[in-house]
Amino acid sequence: MKKEAIQELKQLLRSPKKMVIVPHKNPDGDAIGSTLGLFHYLKKHHQDAIVIAPNDYPDFLKWMPGENTILKYDAQMEESDQLIKDADIIFTLDFNALNRAGDMESALKTSSAMKIMIDHHQQPDDYATYMYSDVSMSSTCEMVYNFIDMLGDKALIDKDIATCLYTGIMTDTGSFRFKSTTSETHLVTAYLIDQGAEHDQIHNDVMDANSFERMQLLGCALTNLKVIPESRTAYITLSQDELNKYNYKKGDTEGFVNYALSLQNIIFAAIFIEDRQSNIIKISLRSKGDFSVNEFARAHFQGGGHTNAAGGKSDLNLTETVENFISILPSYNKALKNE
Ligand code: 5GP
Ligand code: MN
Repeated sequence: MKKEAIQELKQLLRSPKKMVIVPHKNPDGDAIGSTLGLFHYLKKHHQDAIVIAPNDYPDFLKWMPGENTILKYDAQMEESDQLIKDADIIFTLDFNALNRAGDMESALKTSSAMKIMIDHHQQPDDYATYMYSDVSMSSTCEMVYNFIDMLGDKALIDKDIATCLYTGIMTDTGSFRFKSTTSETHLVTAYLIDQGAEHDQIHNDVMDANSFERMQLLGCALTNLKVIPESRTAYITLSQDELNKYNYKKGDTEGFVNYALSLQNIIFAAIFIEDRQSNIIKISLRSKGDFSVNEFARAHFQGGGHTNAAGGKSDLNLTETVENFISILPSYNKALKNE
């Protein structure tokens, strides 16, 4: 961010304003961690801030400090619409296009509030007055840390802020293993631990909160795992009936696609999950090296994301979607083999 922008933002924070903070639909650890981290920070400046999530998020995030103050747009629409209408400033975090806020899109579009984007996804849309976009960042949580630091407020980071930001950095970096994890990420993380983030407890709360049924669903997913060696690709399917059988709850399939990517010689992995209610197949894509699943998702599955982690959807049924995927792959064989 430019120096002038920082000065203007500092000025804005000097007097109380109505602020709404929005993560993307189906928020993950980084989306909830960054919005709550910013929320706690803005509260320190006595701002009238609130987080409104487009919809619900997994139970393994429901221990985070301030989590009980989050409004869910799909369930609390009237109240949310009023807050968005009255807002002076809307922060949009961890997404790059307003349609990623799902049903909140039109309320956000029609709002006259100043918009501030903090995000690390590729090809961001140009809707914000202040845009802090950096695709090289490990997570939006690391960017919120930088944002606070740029405003000269690093010393305001307390245990609650540190806990929220640590959580998102941890989840978006796959527990500090992805390439996006830099020495700077570790320095930020070290600072957060010094400010009170309890890394062992956070890891436990997020990662070791599995239900028995989720483990059974994982067993089912692994049984459905298929490999296409000539494309160095592996994929998993889960039908709605299979999800129902194991009493699927939001977040249960988080990370399943990584098992496909963990196979020897596989550099491209996908999971196709049937959602009969929305009548779509939700797709998660992962890769290793330079093969861009962001480009792949944009080209074929109405989606996007990052080079090594992206998502999208298909309006075909599950079988047809997989057939479509398999038919597309050969045109990428060269790129996949060269990785
Ligand atoms: P996941 O597969 O974990 O849902 O998402 C991986 C990455 O891709 C995340 O950064 C997420 O924001 C992005 N992503 C997931 N689904 C979509 C989608 O439908 N559209 C776009 N543009 N990005 C997505
Ligand atoms: Mn993120």
